[in-house]
Order: sequence, then C-alpha cells, then structure tokens
Amino acid sequence: MSVRKRVDVSGIVQGVGFRPYVYRLAAEYDLAGHIINTAAGVTIEVQGEPAAVEQFLHSLPRRAPEISRIIDVRAAEIPCRGGAGFRILASAKSESARTLISPDVALCEDCLRELFDPADRRCGYPFINCTNCGPRFTIVRSIPYDRPATSMSLFAMCAHCQAEYDDPGNRRFHAQPNACWDCGPQVELRARDGRRITADDPITSAGEHLRAGAVVAVKGLGGFHLAADAENGAALERLRERKQRVEKPFAVMVAGLAAAREFCVLEAEDEGLLVTPQRPIVLLERRPGAAVADAVAPRNRQLGIFLPYTPLHHLLFARSGLRALVMTSGNLSEEPIAIGNEEAITRLAGLADFFLVHNRDILLRCDDSVVRRTGGRVRQVRRSRGFVPAPIFLKEDLPAVLAVGGELKNTVCLLKERHAFLSQHIGDLENAESYGFFQEAVEHLQRILEVRPEIIACDLHPDYLSTKWAYEQTGLRLTGVQHHHAHIASCMAENHLEGQVIGLALDGTGYGTDGHIWGGEALVADYVNFERAAHLEYVPLPGGAAAIREPWRMAVSYLWRRYGPRWEALPLPLVREIPAKKITTVVQMIGRGVNSPLTSSAGRLFDAVAALIGLRLEVNYEAQAAIELEMCRDAAEKGAYGFGIAEKNGVIRLDPDPVVEAIVEDVARGTPTGVVSQRFHNGVSVALAEVALRLRHRTGLNRVCLSGGTFQNAFLAEEVERRLQTEGFEVYGQSDVPANDGGLSLGQAVVAAHRAKSA
Ligand code: ZN
Ligand code: ZN
Ligand code: FE
Repeated sequence: MSVRKRVDVSGIVQGVGFRPYVYRLAAEYDLAGHIINTAAGVTIEVQGEPAAVEQFLHSLPRRAPEISRIIDVRAAEIPCRGGAGFRILASAKSESARTLISPDVALCEDCLRELFDPADRRCGYPFINCTNCGPRFTIVRSIPYDRPATSMSLFAMCAHCQAEYDDPGNRRFHAQPNACWDCGPQVELRARDGRRITADDPITSAGEHLRAGAVVAVKGLGGFHLAADAENGAALERLRERKQRVEKPFAVMVAGLAAAREFCVLEAEDEGLLVTPQRPIVLLERRPGAAVADAVAPRNRQLGIFLPYTPLHHLLFARSGLRALVMTSGNLSEEPIAIGNEEAITRLAGLADFFLVHNRDILLRCDDSVVRRTGGRVRQVRRSRGFVPAPIFLKEDLPAVLAVGGELKNTVCLLKERHAFLSQHIGDLENAESYGFFQEAVEHLQRILEVRPEIIACDLHPDYLSTKWAYEQTGLRLTGVQHHHAHIASCMAENHLEGQVIGLALDGTGYGTDGHIWGGEALVADYVNFERAAHLEYVPLPGGAAAIREPWRMAVSYLWRRYGPRWEALPLPLVREIPAKKITTVVQMIGRGVNSPLTSSAGRLFDAVAALIGLRLEVNYEAQAAIELEMCRDAAEKGAYGFGIAEKNGVIRLDPDPVVEAIVEDVARGTPTGVVSQRFHNGVSVALAEVALRLRHRTGLNRVCLSGGTFQNAFLAEEVERRLQTEGFEVYGQSDVPANDGGLSLGQAVVAAHRAKSA
C-alpha cells in the first residue's frame, strides 16, 4: 500500500541547495516522485509507504539547508502513479523568473574543509563555493538566477565542474558560481598605481605587505575593503588620515572565534551570531587590555567584530598569520563602497598601498551588515550583505509600492504582495556618488522582483534627494509620509500589528508637519494616520547642521532657554573651553532667530547633555556624543532627573528646563559625569513611561512601539521597555529592521499601501 502526496513549499528555497537536499531525503526514505521549482518555491511529489511519507514530511522543514527559509508547507494526498526513483525536473522559464534570489552566503564548513585539504582539487582556490554557500545577490544581473544572468557568465565550466553541476546528488548541483583553478576566476595583486605585481601567490604577498603595516584594498563579496593589521597602531593612523575618518570606529575581521574571544567578552549567543551564514559585524563589549590598537575604536567600549566569509578572507588569514584585520569599506568617508577593479584603483588611489583584486565582477554594491544583541534580541543596525534581498514577511498582501527612504542611512523598499523587500544599505544621500547608487538600487530591485509599482512613498522633507527623485517620477501616485510616522509604521509592520498603537519615536532629525524639526515624539498612530500626542519642547538649533557637528551649540540653546543671558556666569566646562566670540555668535543667532530652526529632537537633547558635562563639545561622526554619553554611564546610580510634563491644546509637552537645571547644579557640585549621565538616562525613561501612561488613560491603547535611531541606545531601549512592561504595556521594538533611518523605507511603504487600500 502506497500513498502519494503533493507538497508545496514556499519561501527561499531556490539557489540554496534545496532540490539536492530533497532528492537525498527522498532517497533516504525510499520514496519515488519528483521536485520542481515553481513561482512560489518548490513543488514536491512523493510516493511510498505511508509511514515513510509521514517521516519525510516531518523531516522536510527540520533538516532543510541552513540558508533556506521555509514560509509554508502544504501537503495534499493525490492518486498514486507508476514510476520508480526520485527526479529533479527542469523548471519552466516563466516560473523560475519569479522566485526569490538568495542573499550572499558565507563559505560553508564543507567548502572550508576542502579549501585547506591538500588532497582536494580546489585546495587553496579563493572562489570555492557550493549550493550551500557563496555569492548570490551581488553577482546577479537579472533573473532567472542562472549562470548566464550572473557575472560568472564569462567563465565556461570545465568538464569536471560541469559534471558536478549536472549531478543531482552532488553538493554543487546547479551551484551557479561553481568554479575551480582550471576554469574559474583568479586573484592578482596590483600596486598602488594599478600595475600588476607578479607573485607566486598574490594572497601570500598581500599578507606580507599587511604584516609590514601596509593598507591593502581587498575585493570582497559586495565591494572593496581597506584592510590593515588591527594590532598595528601606526598602520591604522595612516588609514584614518588617508580615509579622512577621525575616531569613527573601524570594524575588525578576526581570524576565528578564538581571536574574537581574546578581544571581546563573548556569550554563547554572540558566538552563535558571529558564525551565522550572514556573517554580520557584531557589536561586542571590548575586553579590557585587548591587543587591538586604540586607533581601531577610540574611546569606545565596543568593537565591531566579524568572521571571514569568503575563501579569500580565510586564505588571507591563514597565509599572513595575522589575528585581526581592520576591514573598512573601500571608500572615502561617506561615499558608496567601490566594486570594480578599475573603479577601485581610481577611487582608492592614495588610500591603499596595494590592491588584491580578482576577475569575478561584483554587480551590486553591498556593505557589511551590522547587528547587536540587546534585551535578549538581535537587532539590525545596518541590514545589508547576507540579509538582502531576503524579504521581511508581512501580515497580509498589500498593493505594490516603492518607498524611497530618508536622507541618511538610506535604504529603499519595494512591497510586493506579502513581502517587503528592503534594499541594501545605500548610505547618506548627500553626494553625487550615493545618489547614483540609490538610482541603481531602485532600478535593480524593480528588475529582479519584476514589479513597477504605481505608488511611490517618500519623506515629507522637500530637500531630501530621495524626495526630490520621487517628485520627478511622473505618472505615479505619490504619497508623503511623515518621518516619525514611518518609524512607528516600520515597527508595526515588522511586528504584524494592526489597528492603533502608541508610538514613541526618538531620533535626531525628521521633518514635521509644522515645518519644524521633530525627533522627540509620541504618536497615536495606525498605518494610515497619526496624531502627534506628545513631544519634547522646541528649542532653536543654532546654525542648523553646524549644531549637529558641535553639540556645545545645543547646550547653549538649552541653557539660554532656561536661564537667558545669565547662563554665561555658570561654572560649566563649555564656558571655559569655547572661545567667547564663538559663543556670542551663537547666542545672537538664537536671540534673533537667525539660521536657528526649531527642533524637538531627542538626539540633540542627548548631544546637549554630553556638552553640558564637558564630555563632547564637538563630534567627528554622527551620534558620537550620544554614544559616548551612553558608554560613560555609572549603572549603579538610581537617581533620575525629572522632566516637566504639561499639556497644551491636548498635546503633552516634555519640558527639559528642570533637567538642565539639575545637571548644571550637579556639574557645579562636581558630580561624576557617569552619575549625571545615568540620572539623565533614567529621567528620559521615566518621562517616556509617564507619557505612555497618560496616553493609555486617554485612548485605552495598551501597545507601545519603540523606534527611531535614539533607541539604538541599548540602555534606553531596555530600560523604557522594562518600565513599560512593569506598567502592563505590550512593548514592541525593531529587530529584523533597523530602528534608525535604515528602516524608514519599510514604514513609508506600508503607510502608502494602506492609504491606497483604504482610499
Ligand atoms: Zn560550500
Ligand atoms: Zn572547473
Ligand atoms: Fe529618523
């Protein structure tokens, strides 16, 4: 007695070794039938003993390849048929065209073993890969994901590789980037002027140069890295100087987990994160006295650590004997990462001493992803390589929308049915290069997903390049979405929430509906509308962007608000350290309202506090003052500064005056900065909980969403959540999508989609 079942599996099940896996599984249970790729995933038919079929179905999701992602399995009994054996059927072109492309995957254990096995024909080959690992997204030109549509199309497989590719039982069955020494891409070393350097082994030579303190541009998966020995302070100082990057932390790639443990305090979950196939940069607590040079991350208690993810990385560590390499994006400050060989040699001229390049083209830029673990959850800080283009799964089907994101940390998002496809990290849209990358990303995403949405969503800020681009698109329906509404909607979408929520949106900058700069906001929101229910009191932002670079200006703004001209007599570090002339200019700006837009930004309040206590008067990178304020906290302190809370026209206002006053008194008293910082953090948490309580009282809502870049402050995120939970709230934060502006496009997209649905 046999049964036959038809099994439809949806999710990321193509290009990830799923068919060979099912082939082996069917053989194991002695089942006949077939598997075929379909539009939604794969369809399997299996026939055999009822018990064996059941066991097959039980094992199917449980033993699936680590990099596959099964969304749904539906099995139905169908009539039995003749025929023995299990076959992998060729997929129809029209069907394969609509499947999801897998993200890039780090080298797998099997390939790693072969890479260092002298008996293996691919021993030492820097492009070894299989269906379980290797490049995907970054080498795809168009769909379907087949070799001719990738940058591997230039390389004809040798007979040996072709045989593997054609054998359903082989680990390299239909592995599109399959290659070997005889038929695949090769590595070469170039001098700083692009001249070829002949070397027996370019990787060994590059390693020697790194050991000697050189900066080597290394072609990776999604772009070039600038590499330097992380234990060599002089090399890193050189790199910082050339890259015009002051103090902003560099990511460190370590040879393996042992080195990671030496540099950082690792819990089991952190180790688990480091070894995931996505291989993100993980922000970890630095071990005191760790051997990495200070120049890696000055004044920072954390290190961004990641493990090698391409065979080339593994070989570079093995042959150089180095334990840790700074691996920073191959670009000048905030420009996009370089991907082409000639492009890199031109753009990175003056930055790198050598170039370790190869002839497998990167077709799409994709920076490294960054994650951190807080409050028991893994949170995306920058969602890019390894995660993109895997979708965020939504609760329901929505109309197709293209959302173009914000200005900083830009990403774009394409909604298609029940999936939200966020692009890779595009970066700050302030220069022509980033804007070009933005257009590339929009175009590519639409091409590989085969959608041309008729609805575009953008920020309300008229000067954002993304907004301007959206306005230039004709014949489409345009929806402007308020910045903080988008943050909260992003959080709601990720958590599959419906209806209204209380949203706490805290960040640096977002254009408000009143034309002021918002950033310390409590909203009552659903996907379509929002009401601004509470906010920080407005203060002037003297000098606009200059006030972001120079937090002391924000301190002056807050002091002026509380004390008027009397503030200059206060015993504060900034009064002593900033030249009187500069202060006078800023005071005049505030007094006359010149170049001083009003802001309710939480980020600027953190900046002001850092400057008030003399921790940071000026910053070298975004959010530096807030980050250092968080780091210096004395966690033992339990006191909290109290904000004033008042209601005007039904809107709750948080008044910072009492906080500023208490800080000034504490500074005068010589209270340690760590204590002041902790009291401030506690005070903000108490105030936010109080706002939520008042809003629950008024609206009856019990769900609170936390979003915005300020919630990357791990203490604040955990403390606010804890306080709210103590009060019985259901609290939702962001984890698969960044809470910062990198997650904005998702929020814009779902708001626009719901507006279109309800229109
Ligand atoms: Zn592999
Ligand atoms: Zn070959
Ligand atoms: Fe924001």
